[in-house]
Amino acid sequence: QLKPAAAAAAAQSYPTTHEQIQSPADTQNFIDNQFIASQATQWIDLHDPATNNLVTRVPQSTDAELKAAVDSAAKAFPAWRDTSLLARQQIMFKYVALIREHWDRLAASITLEQGKTFADAKGDVLRGLQVAETACGITTQLTGEVLEVAKDMETRSYKEPLGVVAAICPFNFPAMIPLWCIPIATATGNTIVIKPSERDPGACMILAELAEKAGFPPGVINIIHGSAKTVDFIIDEPRIKAISFVGSNKAGEYIYTRGSANGKRVQANLGAKNHAAVLPDCNKNHALNAIAGAAFGAAGQRCMALSTLVMIGETKDWVPEIAERAKSIVMDGGFEEGADLGPVISPESKKRIEELIASAEAEGATILLDGRGQKPAKYPNGNWIGPTIIANVKPHMKCYTEEIFGPVLVCLNVDTIDEAIDLINANEYGNGTAIFTRSGATAGLFQKKIEAGQVGINVPIPVPLPMFSFTGNKKSIAGGGANTFYGKPGIQFYTQQKTVTSLWKAEDAVASRASVNMPTHS
Ligand code: NAD
Repeated sequence: QLKPAAAAAAAQSYPTTHEQIQSPADTQNFIDNQFIASQATQWIDLHDPATNNLVTRVPQSTDAELKAAVDSAAKAFPAWRDTSLLARQQIMFKYVALIREHWDRLAASITLEQGKTFADAKGDVLRGLQVAETACGITTQLTGEVLEVAKDMETRSYKEPLGVVAAICPFNFPAMIPLWCIPIATATGNTIVIKPSERDPGACMILAELAEKAGFPPGVINIIHGSAKTVDFIIDEPRIKAISFVGSNKAGEYIYTRGSANGKRVQANLGAKNHAAVLPDCNKNHALNAIAGAAFGAAGQRCMALSTLVMIGETKDWVPEIAERAKSIVMDGGFEEGADLGPVISPESKKRIEELIASAEAEGATILLDGRGQKPAKYPNGNWIGPTIIANVKPHMKCYTEEIFGPVLVCLNVDTIDEAIDLINANEYGNGTAIFTRSGATAGLFQKKIEAGQVGINVPIPVPLPMFSFTGNKKSIAGGGANTFYGKPGIQFYTQQKTVTSLWKAEDAVASRASVNMPTHS
């Protein structure tokens, strides 16, 4: 077993190069505001995707550890629920300030474990921080409603916390996704158990440490680790009332179905295939830059990556120009100055992506730009794939029907905007889409007819800020999109509504005889 990491030591320094991991420390559980070395017998090795050097070992937390985390959250709940909103808000203010203070450290952990560039990792943290900042307004967001429904009678509605909730997170946004959950769940009075991705839990561990510093009482935020076994524990543990999941369809559909059958609320954001429709009247320079950035940024490992181009009419001739822009994207270790693009998460992921590129070739598409076999000189052992563009793709091809989740842009050609809309709507995913045009009328038509849940008009990655909600559609979200992350629906998800109807009448006005009819309040 490797030496357990001392949380305090980790707080003082953090690696800013890929070479600095000399003596890896095991990842710990975080229960009752304590970092606790796991007694696990099974460990998951976590490698830096740029070097494949060992960064840490992540435990498959034991049954006793999983239970201890829920015990802690359940024990903390009554007092946390009764903590005044203003006191919770003060803690959230401190939490926000600490995340900002430790921004670089969080980003460095992400670059090391996940591979994305340091600048991009800072964005990962910021998009989560914005949710925490918005949660500081909980005092006005949690207000209920009141209506005088009849003379002397009123109905009030309250939003009450659920109890213990859980979050199961993906690898691609190690800070943002935990921060979609922690601030809203806790500000609304719940306690939370989080299972970060076993592939990059480091940022979540730092978030836990900062939560303790901010003043969250023991048990309000707990972290456990592992893979499917931990997920099954969460799904089946009766004290967990709600599950927030972000990740693939395979895991998410299973968690949604079994979690719902167990009577839990489940919100589950799933996979994607995001299309951009490009019209000849668009601002060409803006569109081509936006597309190249959104297709290849974060090595295409964003659920809102713009992975599919629908070139309308003459714009099909622009694809080589996108390839020219893609060639100027610098692939390098995420800490390196000037790096635009990091590695993909694992050797398995690299292999899967390369196989999908090969399948496109075999099915008759054109590999216009081939990123296979490219690697930066300094990092020969990383999981590298350079920007890849596949042209002349047809909807039946595997590279179109499957989510690639790598730096690969697939391009299809159509003649009209109507054909583009039909093509995009025929795709089973519906996370995001974008249109590039100067015509308000065309954009309006697209916006109205398109079935994707998040639409960008000349905006390549239209992820809404936290005052709105993350509104995927179709196969990109489980349960028909009824439960969406953050914003007003996020508060709704983490609270139970209670309505109270009361009658206050002067004593002599109260009827002397029992009424057996259904009260109508009229
Ligand atoms: P993943 O489904 O492999 O893992 C997500 C979580 O589920 C992890 O914590 C993992 O431990 C767990 N898990 C994995 N397989 C499981 C199984 N068989 N049974 C139970 N639990 C399991 O997803 P990932 O590879 O980490 O993330 C990439 C995926 O997430 C992509 O499909 C991407 O589109 C999606 N994603 C979606 C959004 C969104 O908001 N729609 C955001 C980010 C990522």
